[in-house]
Amino acid sequence: MSNPWDPDTVFERVSFVRPCDYCGARFAVFVSREVGSGEEHPYECPECGKDYVVHAALEPLVNLLEPRTDGKQDRYQETLF
Ligand SMILES: [Zn+2]
Repeated sequence: MSNPWDPDTVFERVSFVRPCDYCGARFAVFVSREVGSGEEHPYECPECGKDYVVHAALEPLVNLLEPRTDGKQDRYQETLF
């Protein structure tokens, strides 16, 4: 699988902030991307454990920025496929 973007960069660090769809927490996700490789890596919300996936070369790091806003203590439950 080829990446059409950044053909000159072999290794790129990317971070982004993601609000959790389930509990409303906000957390930063740090990933390393490598041109020409990379795969889907799972990570989870530090508050509720909801699973997400990011395209990256290495395991993503997650850093909680703001706690959950739904006022609950429960863990995300896998849905319903
Ligand atoms: Zn969450």
